[in-house]
Amino acid sequence: MTSVPRVLLRDGSSIPQLGFGVWQLGEADCVRLVGEALRIGYRSIDTAQLYGNEASVGQALRETDVLRSEITITSKLRNGAHRRDDALRAFDLTMQKLGLEQLDQFLIHWPVPEQDLYVEAWSTLIELQAQGRVRSIGVSNFDPVHIDRIVTASGVLPAVNQIELHPRYQQRGTRAFHQRHGIATESWSPLGPGTDAVAFWQQSGNPRGEPVLPDPTILAIAEKHRKSAAQVIIRWHLQQGLILFPKSAKPERIAENFDVFDFALDEQDIGSIAGMDRRGGKVGAQPAAFNFVF
Ligand code: NAD
Repeated sequence: MTSVPRVLLRDGSSIPQLGFGVWQLGEADCVRLVGEALRIGYRSIDTAQLYGNEASVGQALRETDVLRSEITITSKLRNGAHRRDDALRAFDLTMQKLGLEQLDQFLIHWPVPEQDLYVEAWSTLIELQAQGRVRSIGVSNFDPVHIDRIVTASGVLPAVNQIELHPRYQQRGTRAFHQRHGIATESWSPLGPGTDAVAFWQQSGNPRGEPVLPDPTILAIAEKHRKSAAQVIIRWHLQQGLILFPKSAKPERIAENFDVFDFALDEQDIGSIAGMDRRGGKVGAQPAAFNFVF
C-alpha cells in the first residue's frame, strides 16, 4: 500500500499530504466514492457543513474496513454559524452526521468580514479543541489580515489555512506569511477550476476562470514524464510541501490522482510551472469580499 507523506502541524498532530475532497458530490455518490478512495489508499477526507454530504462521509466511514485512527477527517463551520451558540450547535450536528467522537480538523470556512463574527467563531473552535472534541483547528479563505486579527484576539495560531491554490494562482505572499508563522497551507481546487466549480463561482458573481489542466506547459511536462496533466499538478503541490484534496466523481481518476509517488518533477519543470502564475488566475471569490451566508 502506498504510504503518503504526512505534514506535521504546529499542534503536534499530522495530516496526509494527499487526500480526497468531496465538494459537489451528491449523497449517494459521496458514500460510494469515499469508499472507493479509502480502498485505493486515501486516508484524508475533506468535507464541510456547506457540502451537504457529511452524513454520507459518515456512512462511508462506518462501511469501511480501514481503522478510524488511520483516517483524517476535516469539516468546516458554515458562514451562518459564527456566533458561539450557533457554532457549538453546528459542530454537534457535524459530529452526529459524521458519527464521530472526535474530529481531526475543524476550520472556519470563510471569514465573512461584513458579518464580523469570525473572532467569536475562532474562540469557539479554541474551546472545542480544549474539550478534546477536535484535534486541530484552523481556518479557510483567511487573508493574512484576518489571521492577524484572530491571533491578536486569542493568542492562538491556526494549524492550517485552506485557500484557493493552483499553478495559475500560486499565492506566494500568503504562503510566505504561513511559513513565517508555522501555519500549514492546504490547496483548494488544486487542479484549477472544474466546470461545476466555475458554474458555482459565476452564480456568486465571479465570472473568471480558465481551466488549468489543458495548459500547454502542463501538457508538455506530462508528456515528458508519461504522466497525466492532473498527476503533474498534484506532484507540483506535493513538492511545494502543500496539502491537497483533489476531487473527482470518476473512480479511474480518483485512482490516477493517487498514482503520483513514482516520479518527480525536476527543477526545470518547477521553473516552468512557476511562470504560470497570473494576477487574474483566481477563480473563487476574494475572501475580503465574500459575505455570502449559508
Ligand atoms: P479539483 O481541483 O480537485 O478538481 C478540479 C476539476 O478537475 C474537477 O472538475 C474534477 O472533476 C476534475 N478532475 C479531477 N481529477 C481529474 C483527472 N485526473 N483528470 C481530469 N480531470 C480531473 O477541484 P475542487 O473539487 O474544486 O477542489 C478540491 C477540494 O477542495 C474540494 O472537493 C473541497 O474538498 C476543497 N475545496 C474547498 C474550498 C474552500 O472554500 N475551503 C473551496 C473549493 C474546494
